[in-house]
Amino acid sequence: MHNESSDGRSYIGKRAIVIGAGVSGLAAARAVADHFEEVVVLERDELPSGATTRPGVPQGTQAHGLLGGAVKGLRELFPGFDQDLVEAGAVLVNPGFELLLEFPGFGPFPLRKWNWFIYSLTRPLVELTMRRRMEQQPNISLRGGSRVLEIVGTPDGVRVTGVRCQTAEGPEAIPADLVIDASKHGSLTWSFLKSTGHPLPDETTIGVDIRYATALCELRHGALGEFKANVTFPKAPESMNAGYLLPVENNCYQLLLIGRADDIPPTDGAAFLEYARKLDTPTIYNAIKGARQLGEVARYGFPESKWRHFGLLDRFPRGLLPTGDAICCLNPVYGQGITTAVLEANAMRRLLNVNARKADPLAMLGSHFLTEVEALLEDPWAMSAIPDFVYPETRGKRPKDLDDSLQFQNALIHLTTRDADLVELLAEVRHLLKPMSVLNEPDILRRVEAEMTAKQ
Ligand SMILES: Cc1cc2nc3c(=O)[nH]c(=O)nc-3n(C[C@H](O)[C@H](O)[C@H](O)COP(=O)(O)OP(=O)(O)OC[C@H]3O[C@@H](n4cnc5c(N)ncnc54)[C@H](O)[C@@H]3O)c2cc1C
Repeated sequence: MHNESSDGRSYIGKRAIVIGAGVSGLAAARAVADHFEEVVVLERDELPSGATTRPGVPQGTQAHGLLGGAVKGLRELFPGFDQDLVEAGAVLVNPGFELLLEFPGFGPFPLRKWNWFIYSLTRPLVELTMRRRMEQQPNISLRGGSRVLEIVGTPDGVRVTGVRCQTAEGPEAIPADLVIDASKHGSLTWSFLKSTGHPLPDETTIGVDIRYATALCELRHGALGEFKANVTFPKAPESMNAGYLLPVENNCYQLLLIGRADDIPPTDGAAFLEYARKLDTPTIYNAIKGARQLGEVARYGFPESKWRHFGLLDRFPRGLLPTGDAICCLNPVYGQGITTAVLEANAMRRLLNVNARKADPLAMLGSHFLTEVEALLEDPWAMSAIPDFVYPETRGKRPKDLDDSLQFQNALIHLTTRDADLVELLAEVRHLLKPMSVLNEPDILRRVEAEMTAKQ
């Protein structure tokens, strides 16, 4: 199953197709590029030459930040990518002392310089910076205006053999050894499984009805004092509104205000700024007084976190890999979606590096990858989806140990207000730089338990 190509290199397959040129599609294309003669990324949108929003990624209008784990993972895929981000205009924020994180009822937290950063930029600029790297990779081609209509395979569904797509020139069938579904909705994978009699994965959903609204603005000088960025969480469960004020390229800020259910942020400029008064602390409201709003307020509704458990299926078609939001969509409030997608791409790359030495490298790739992703998603799901159950309105199956884990979290956050090392450790866990298991270290458990007892 190894192909000798015209360039004298040995590949495990002739062509890999990636459906979707979003973040996970671009990361996955790079992850597999060393092992296929060519990688073709098919994107239904025409791809813009600049950092502009596009219809296929409607969440691109909303504030996005790249967590520490995303940048680390992107650097593994594209060495020097952090430098590319800075050259593109991303603002470096040291979360240790330049980000004011407000958790009403907790804090303030000790400030200290850390040796890692958040990269703050608009979502279209993240994609543009990744696309520029793709252009330097001779065996990857990005094809905008190519909507995939169907994943095709052998009649028994055991093996995927390519896709059928629609372009301006008409329909086209493209054969492939590997098809990666990075379409976010994942409906093509779903249809393929269904039409070929494969079992469908269980889905876990947590209904939240989050209402996002973002506007770009220019702040007056020093509006945030000594800080570069602010994130204000609600005092849950009493209140539900969160706010983000994040610096982005071109000396602008993204103001993101979040409501839930019927509490929808207004799109009228003045009313939108006034909505910031609903936050539990006045920092953002005070900072945006006198700000100049640039452009419209854009809204986005996020109904539910969703995890499709492909990794628990007994069998999966050969040559098919879903990835990114097509597997798991997390409540975006914690900003872990891109990091998760990038961690998946790195897992794909590692598995391919190992499998490339085997006689049939693609034989078990799908099930190995999806099993690994199932484990990888446990931490982000625990941090970005489960905490929503603090609100009684949240829909879904509440974990049995919910009260204990919420109490543990609260005690831990209280502890961090007196311990600068613990603040950083907790941030490394939230940024997916370290696993949650580091918080099970005996000394931490002992101190958290003492804190919980003291609060009773
Ligand atoms: C409001 C909001 C804010 C967020 N903020 C953050 C944040 O701050 N930090 C963070 O890390 N994450 C954030 N996320 C999560 C992040 O946006 C997603 O996790 C991430 O974009 C997933 O990438 P993806 O490639 O799977 O999907 P997408 O980025 O949505 O890309 C899917 C692509 O597939 C294309 N496509 C779909 N169907 C087809 C087809 N049939 N043929 C060809 N192409 C197709 C689409 O056009 C699109 O380009 C946020 C999400 C939301 C909703």
